[in-house]
Parts: sequence; C-alpha cells; structure tokens
Amino acid sequence: MVAIIQDVSEMQRAAESLRTAGKRIGIVPTMGYLHEGHLSLIRTAKHHADVVVTTIFVNPKQFGPAEDYERYPRDLSNDSLLASSAGTDYIFAPESKSMYPNEYLTDVHIERYSSILEGRSRPGHFQGVATVVTKLLNITKPHVAVFGQKDAQQAVVIRQMLRDLNYDIELVIAPTVREADGLALSSRNSYLSTEERKQAPVLFQSLNLAEQRVREGVRVSVRIINEMSEFITNRSAGVIDYISIADSNTLEELSAIEGQRSVLISLAVRFGATRLIDNQIVKV
Ligand code: AMP
Repeated sequence: MVAIIQDVSEMQRAAESLRTAGKRIGIVPTMGYLHEGHLSLIRTAKHHADVVVTTIFVNPKQFGPAEDYERYPRDLSNDSLLASSAGTDYIFAPESKSMYPNEYLTDVHIERYSSILEGRSRPGHFQGVATVVTKLLNITKPHVAVFGQKDAQQAVVIRQMLRDLNYDIELVIAPTVREADGLALSSRNSYLSTEERKQAPVLFQSLNLAEQRVREGVRVSVRIINEMSEFITNRSAGVIDYISIADSNTLEELSAIEGQRSVLISLAVRFGATRLIDNQIVKV
C-alpha cells in the first residue's frame, strides 16, 4: 500500500532511511489530479528506481496572479488510488504553508530560459517551478527524477538547473500520453466545455501538419507557423498565444530550419479561460 506523507521532515527521514538501505529513489513531481500521463511517468520511474515517490503539490509560486491556482482541480484520495495502482510507494503531498512558511525568502532563478516562450506568457512561472523542484529534490533525495515531454520547456529548464547546481540526479523525460483523438492529457482538460473539447485536438493536428511540412522540405519557419495558425483558426475558436519553432536543446527560435538535428515545435492556445500547450520534436 502507498504511504501518504504530508510532513516535510517525515519525508526527509523516510528518504534517508531508504538511501541507507541502499534503495534507489525515483521522484515524479506532479500537481495532482492524476491522469494516464502522470501514471506513465510513475511506471517509467519504477523502471529506473526501487522506490517511487510521487509528489502532489499545487505550487502557488508557479501561478501568475490572474491564473488558475484557486480553481486548479484537486482530488488527493483518487490520486492516491491511481498513483498506488501505477506503482508509487510514497506520495508526498505537503501543505502550502509547510513548503512556504511566512518567513520564506528564497527563489531559484534560471537565466534566459525563464523569459522566453512559456516564460514570456507566464512571467515568474519557471522561477516557481525551479524553486519548488529544488525543494522537492531536497526533501525526497531521489537518484532519478522523471518529467514529461508535454512540458518541453520545463524539461529544458530542469536539465539546466540540475547541471548548474551539481545535482547528482538522473533526469528521465517521458513521452506525451494522448487521448485517442490526439489531445495531450492534462489536468486542465477538465475545464473544457463539450464544444471546446471537440476542438482541442487542433493543437496536435497542427503539430502533425508542421511535421509533415518539415518532412516535405519546408525550411522557412514563418511559412509553417502561418499555416499552423490558419489551420487552428479555421477549425476552432482557439485563440493562439504563441507558436514557436526553436532549437530543441537551446530553445533559440529559428527563422529557418538549417543544420539543426532536432527542432521543437511548440504552441499555446486558449479556449475561453483554458490555456492548453503541446509540442512535438521533429528530427530533421
Ligand atoms: P503537472 O501535474 O501538470 O504539473 O505535470 C506533472 C508531470 O507530468 C510533468 O512532468 C508533466 O510534463 C507530466 N505530464 C503532464 N501531462 C502529461 C502527458 N499528457 N503525458 C506525459 N506526461 C505528462
């Protein structure tokens, strides 16, 4: 059975005894309201570790003031069942005030990556992510951490942070899990109306269209971006926040796809108040 820990020191003690017993610890950080995407990360972690800790924490620091922190869906009891069925041994689900007590003053900031793409639309987001991930790593003491390709920029930010701060932790990025119609699973999909849900696969479809154009030899990014944009606006009520074609390692936006081995095509689209993101890596 899964052990649910809410207390920071208790989690640290549990992690320390696991380490002393020679166990390899894997962490899967999440904000809960778990779906099959999260569960695939837990299964992946199980392959890379003896003991899996799934963290469930809706981190206030990574939400902007006008964002959905308050209404973000939460269901710890169902999450525990799902996480346990996928092989989680420990759930760490702290309360906000134990992670950020009144006297809390420290933030982790990653230059450059924090202010582009998602960071441009969501100021402070990656600082919040880097800060909470740092804390979760210090609390759960993992040997391996598993994140999803669904949040492509987050994966790049975490990789940079682990390297810069000399974390001795293996990073595993697991592929995006999708619904049958291509929509990437997300806790935020629960916000969509029936009509919006019908239209939401345009993100994935536009990524496929972009991939096809790259394969056909189109190299001018703006041509591909314009076509994706038209595709989305013609087929849905989605409002495009951004569409980007960037180097997948440096996230540098590319006006032309030349000499890159791997490009990251990513986008954010709003359906009413719901903001969806998706991405695809295309090997050139
Ligand atoms: P979240 O709970 O949305 O913060 O996500 C927690 C982790 O699950 C992050 O590493 C995400 O990238 C990953 N994740 C979210 N959605 C998916 C998905 N559809 N497929 C695979 N991983 C996902």
